[in-house]
Amino acid sequence: MPAIVIDGKAIAKKIRDDLAIRAAILRKKGVFPCLAVVLAGEDPASLSYVGAKEKALAEAGMESRDIRLPRSTGEGELLSLIDQLNRDPAVHGVLVQLPLPQHIEEDKVIAAIDPARDVDGFHPFSVGSMVLGRPGFLPCTPHGVVTLLRDLPIPLDGARAVVVGRSNIVGKPLANLLCRRDVNATVTLCHTGTRNLESICREADILIAAAGKPGLITGSMVKKGAVVIDVGVNRVEDPSAKKGYRLRGDVDFDPAVERAAYITPVPGGVGPMTIAMLLQNVLIAAEQRT
Ligand code: NAD
Repeated sequence: MPAIVIDGKAIAKKIRDDLAIRAAILRKKGVFPCLAVVLAGEDPASLSYVGAKEKALAEAGMESRDIRLPRSTGEGELLSLIDQLNRDPAVHGVLVQLPLPQHIEEDKVIAAIDPARDVDGFHPFSVGSMVLGRPGFLPCTPHGVVTLLRDLPIPLDGARAVVVGRSNIVGKPLANLLCRRDVNATVTLCHTGTRNLESICREADILIAAAGKPGLITGSMVKKGAVVIDVGVNRVEDPSAKKGYRLRGDVDFDPAVERAAYITPVPGGVGPMTIAMLLQNVLIAAEQRT
């Protein structure tokens, strides 16, 4: 039997509807949850991500302060802007859209964000808190994946989870969240140095692809009955598509769907959950300061 396709959009919508109710309660108290969104440059993918985040905020009754900077913005200028936003009582969250232009050091910029406003969860303080299991903002994509998994009628406790990809924003924090006691999976983290990727993936009850390589996970790498979560979002050329490209995940969907029990589509799987988790962090930031 083919896999059940997980409707990330629907699950995210439910979360966003609940957040909208909480946002309305805050607004009645005179608090307007607000995310400052900083974008330096005009990278088309970043422009589309920022637009989607701002639209979702508005739909949930939250505000965004849209700050567009030219590509040539200096690092010092960006750091002093973040300093201003950190002190602004009307701003509850600060998000700097990555990647930044090459002349700006991303680590420095992330570290400049006040951890109480770090709704992306990338600040070293947030990362440390996550690893130690202390309160703090969780990074949105890994948190979205765990939330999707919890929504499934399957036991996560003791499951064998394989994460492919070790980036600081997806793979590493995801592996970390999955092995926390509240999920309790046994985790293997694979990367470009991994030998026998195929056989490791084939052992996974939960297989998560976050490598940014279209079709890296073939059907034969999926164990029968596994849960497959495809984080990858890759633009592949397609002259027949309106925009000249289409989005493809890291998983070769058609053969994988024949073997998995549950699978996320691209788009419409993890992406909407990332946005829902961002909104949740903004709302929590506003609630915590009320
Ligand atoms: P990244 O390039 O920073 O990291 C990719 C990781 O995959 C690296 O750590 C690398 O070791 C590993 N990798 C690459 N090729 C591999 C291979 N052949 N075998 C094993 N490991 C390999 O990327 P990222 O920022 O973590 O993003 C990964 C993918 O997820 C991208 O497609 C990105 O667009 C997507 N993404 C989606 C969302 C979402 O909301 N849906 C959010 C963030 C990232």
